Amino acid sequence: MKKIRRIKPGQRKRERKEAAAALEKQAAAFLDHPKECCICAAPFERNHESVKTWQVVVKEDVVRLTCPTCWGRITETLERRSEELCIEKD
Ligand SMILES: [Zn+2]
Repeated sequence: MKKIRRIKPGQRKRERKEAAAALEKQAAAFLDHPKECCICAAPFERNHESVKTWQVVVKEDVVRLTCPTCWGRITETLERRSEELCIEKD
């Protein structure tokens, strides 16, 4: 015997609507994102390379754009800091 999934009427439609709304919001945030690096203010030129190398971070509806140079510095600092933390722990 097959189990019949109980789905409230209209639930699927609502879910799809919510997903579409979330996607739209995301797209809007991306279109609306800053046009320069949030650290060194280097201008962002949208092309194949920059889209792959620049980092877009969305946090609490704030879009931050980071150029590859600054991103490299950030990850380097974070790595160093976590290493320091490890040393402190020992
Ligand atoms: Zn930068």
